[in-house]
Amino acid sequence: MLIRNYRIFSLFGIPIEINPTWLFTLAFFVYILGGELYPDALEDEPAWFLWALAFVSGLLFFASIIVHELAHSLVAQRYGIPVRAITLFMLGGVSQITKEAKRPLVEFVTAIVGPLTSFLLAAIFVGLALTPGIHGGRIGIMFEFLFVMNLSLGVVNMAPGFPLDGGRVLRGIVWWITGNAVRATRIAARVGQVIAFVMILYGLMQFFRGAGFNGLWIAFIGWFLLSASRESYAQMVISEGLRGLRVGDVMSRDFPVVDAHSNLQTFAEENLTRTGRRFWVVTLNGQPEGIITPNEMSAVTRNRWPYTTVADVMRPLDATHTVNPNTPVTEALEVMASQDLNQLPVMNEHGLAGLISRSHILQLIQTRAELHL
Ligand SMILES: [Zn+2]
Repeated sequence: MLIRNYRIFSLFGIPIEINPTWLFTLAFFVYILGGELYPDALEDEPAWFLWALAFVSGLLFFASIIVHELAHSLVAQRYGIPVRAITLFMLGGVSQITKEAKRPLVEFVTAIVGPLTSFLLAAIFVGLALTPGIHGGRIGIMFEFLFVMNLSLGVVNMAPGFPLDGGRVLRGIVWWITGNAVRATRIAARVGQVIAFVMILYGLMQFFRGAGFNGLWIAFIGWFLLSASRESYAQMVISEGLRGLRVGDVMSRDFPVVDAHSNLQTFAEENLTRTGRRFWVVTLNGQPEGIITPNEMSAVTRNRWPYTTVADVMRPLDATHTVNPNTPVTEALEVMASQDLNQLPVMNEHGLAGLISRSHILQLIQTRAELHL
């Protein structure tokens, strides 16, 4: 999400945020209700009443979404999984649950409680809509709308495609049966992609048959689901594949070295361009002192290269982000991502022990995935 979120209030210690794109959806609902649905059903009511009712309906619908997300979040918290926030955006709501479930039962319960809450809300609203005195009156139609929306919310979210709630429920069940979290994710994500493709195809078909906006909307949600299922699957594979691995297990111990006294011209001609390696350890009397990459060299104009030594421009080891052999690999990846680095020196008590690089970790994930390790 490129547009930033705004915190509006907190419930049970969980911040509720809105993304500005959500305002479009609210405006869309108010427009459809106040401009079309309600005037048809309540012909004798003044326009201001219809618009006010539409606005209240829109807010209550989003309150229903918050209650749905709150159900996920509170159950997650009960299981000791921290929740960063609940965010409302264009396509609904999302609970920003910061960690994956560690057991299938946790995944299952955390997921299914959302749709169950929506079904419960639907039951409450249909009860209100049918209450004598409200039924057929001025606000009965609003409760009918909220009943239909909450019922749809429950049904749509139970579609068994990851990362929808139903997909997480499916993942929890497959995980419980097979005992294999990665395989369960793969299956649930595949089903999610199939559902997404069907939605895109169906939406486009409807669009070309003249359904207009509705068709495009379905296709758009399908496309969103498709990228979400790919993304969450990739993330899961990475964190599963690297679980328990430490930097010391995967670092490379042979790193290219260059003497601190060499000048940049020689370094460029004899080391950089011949090997294509970008990350060099600078040594003085055989001891590692710093690192140098083409980035450091670009600070010096080319005609100064013969008169500038590697030591002049290197990044000293003590001014560089480093990790130690006991650092979890996932943590090293986070450091590289946040500092926008591709490599990190690994230091132990004796000094430089090796290097760890992003591309090496990715290769490792691939190999382990192929061998189903
Ligand atoms: Zn949900």
